[in-house]
Amino acid sequence: MKYIDTHTHINLRAFRDDAHEAIRRALDADVAIVNVGTQIDTSRQAVNLLEDFPMNVYAAVGLHPVHTFSHDFEDEEEVKFKTREEGFNYEDYKALANTPRVVGIGECGLDYYRLPQDRDHAEIKRMQLEAFLPQVKLARELDKALCIHCRPSEGTMDAYEEIAELMKQVKKDQPDFRFEIHCYTGDLPTALKFVEIGAYIGINGIITFDKTGRSESVVKGIPLENIILETDAPYLTPVPHRGKRNEPSYLPLIAEKIAEWKGESAERVAEVTTANAKKLFKLE
Ligand SMILES: [Zn+2]
Ligand SMILES: [Zn+2]
Repeated sequence: MKYIDTHTHINLRAFRDDAHEAIRRALDADVAIVNVGTQIDTSRQAVNLLEDFPMNVYAAVGLHPVHTFSHDFEDEEEVKFKTREEGFNYEDYKALANTPRVVGIGECGLDYYRLPQDRDHAEIKRMQLEAFLPQVKLARELDKALCIHCRPSEGTMDAYEEIAELMKQVKKDQPDFRFEIHCYTGDLPTALKFVEIGAYIGINGIITFDKTGRSESVVKGIPLENIILETDAPYLTPVPHRGKRNEPSYLPLIAEKIAEWKGESAERVAEVTTANAKKLFKLE
C-alpha cells in the first residue's frame, strides 16, 4: 500500500453501519489502516475487524485517558456524551494484543484538556497515569508500538512535557522502544523534544484547516523521517470534506498538504511516511 493511516477508528459507533465499505474504500485508495481501540470493547472490535480483512488492516488495543474517569465528555468534533469509567485490565488487553496483526498498544496517555470543574484534577491525573503506565509496560513486554494520545490543559504544554519526560526515561532504559505521539497539536520546541528521543509524530486533517500557524511551523520544523500520517476518523475531517464524517480514504489529502509546506512531492511524502509507519509498527 502506498499510504498507512496509522490512527483511525472504524471500530467506533460512527461506522456501525458501513465499517466494511469504509475499509474497502481505504484499500481501494491504496491506504492500509490501523484501527485504534479506546476502551476494551472498541479494542475488541478493532481486533474483530482483522478477521474480515486478511491484509493491510491492523489494530492497536488500549484504554484512552478520557475513559479512565466518568464525566460528560465532548469529543474532537464537540459531540457530547457520557464516558464510562474503566480501569486498565492488563491480562484482558494482553490477550487481545497477542492476536496476530495487533501492532500497537493504545491509544493511551494523558488528557488534561478541559477537565470537569466538579472533579478533583489531581485525582483524575492520578487515574490517567495509573492506566497509562501499565500500557507502557505491556508495549515493552510484547514489543509493540506505543500509540500515545496527549492533550495538555489549555494554553500550556503540561501533559506533553510529562509524557516527554516519561518516554525519555523509557528510551534510556530501552533504546529500541518504538512510540508515536498521535494527533500532535503542541508547539515546535516540544515537538523537537519528542523528535530527539526518536518519537514519530502523527499528523492529521487539522493541518488542512488550522489557521493559527502552529501546525505549519511544526510540519516545517520537524524531519519528514519523524512524521506519520493519520486521519483519526471519524473525527477531524480534512478540507474539502469538512462537515462530513472523516474516513481513511481521505488520507492522501494530508500527504498533499505536508508536501506543499515542505516543498516536497506528495509521492515522496507518501514514501517516507509509509516507511516510518512500517518501522514504528514493525510491518514487513
Ligand atoms: Zn486521540
Ligand atoms: Zn483516536
